[in-house]
Amino acid sequence: MTVVLTADNLHRHYAVRRGLFAGPATVRALAGVSFSVEAGRTLAVVGESGCGKSTLARLLTMIELPTEGRLLIDGADVVAADATLRRQLRRAVQIVFQNPYGSLNPRQTVGDALMEPLLVNGDKDAAHREHAARDMLRQVGLRDEHFSRYPHMFSGGQRQRVAIARALMLKPRVLVLDEPVSALDVSIRAQVLNLLVDLQQALGVAYVFISHDLGVVRHVADDVAVMYLGRIVEQGPREQVFAEPQHPYTQALLSATPTVDAKARRQRIILQGELPSPIRPPSGCAFHTRCPEAVARCSTETPELLPMKAPATQRVSCLLRHPG
Ligand code: SF4
Repeated sequence: MTVVLTADNLHRHYAVRRGLFAGPATVRALAGVSFSVEAGRTLAVVGESGCGKSTLARLLTMIELPTEGRLLIDGADVVAADATLRRQLRRAVQIVFQNPYGSLNPRQTVGDALMEPLLVNGDKDAAHREHAARDMLRQVGLRDEHFSRYPHMFSGGQRQRVAIARALMLKPRVLVLDEPVSALDVSIRAQVLNLLVDLQQALGVAYVFISHDLGVVRHVADDVAVMYLGRIVEQGPREQVFAEPQHPYTQALLSATPTVDAKARRQRIILQGELPSPIRPPSGCAFHTRCPEAVARCSTETPELLPMKAPATQRVSCLLRHPG
């Protein structure tokens, strides 16, 4: 399989003001994130609100550039790219947001919304644009008559289908899905998730699926990366992470995830306290202020994200999982 997206030690810092008398501070929203995604595969990035996953989405879609580190799309370095190459790379990565109503123009018909990316990118053939848009409507499970309708005439699930169709019009290599079903009724989430799986099989596009909910990614992810305060704390194939979560944070997230499988049900782990501020992250292991297993050295030593002895495909950032 071809690697289409590589994040190599990505950092993103923001300078913020803390008020009249305090000096400026730095928010370390991303503090060294690395992964790669192959064509036709899905990496799920999971964590609480404030863990850095939205910042990651902005970097992957080139809305912002990293402060440090490299982002490669099909081997091309986004930071080093000149304006022409960066425009091409922007086409190659598209995004679907949580709220489809907010991402669609209420005054634009669905047909126009789908044809617009082609027009903006130089497709001057109106008949081709319309043909491609109608074809994409069918691929996302909508009908020909939907072409001339406005977003308010659709249900939430249908609107998200339109948003997915629009994101796919430029045939991207990577689709960033930022909480794509969180705003939808539970009853239609599965339909949209199934659609995403079918589209990936048909088109071979790579997904980065961002979610706060491990339960949602269980059926769509190939690999899972769990983030905490701007870092990945556990990463590995979905089956391993779900069957044998190693990091105490992943264990807590999973214990809070409802499942119908009685064998997979875990005793609920309640995390104490709030997510610390990324302006002043805790010393040592950033999770030590909430970790039920923390020992003295957790507040002074910073664990690296290292492979487990077995299986080596699962990587964990915890001092107790890598003794010695
Ligand atoms: Fe918990 Fe310590 Fe492991 Fe961090 S290093 S996850 S605080 S046990």
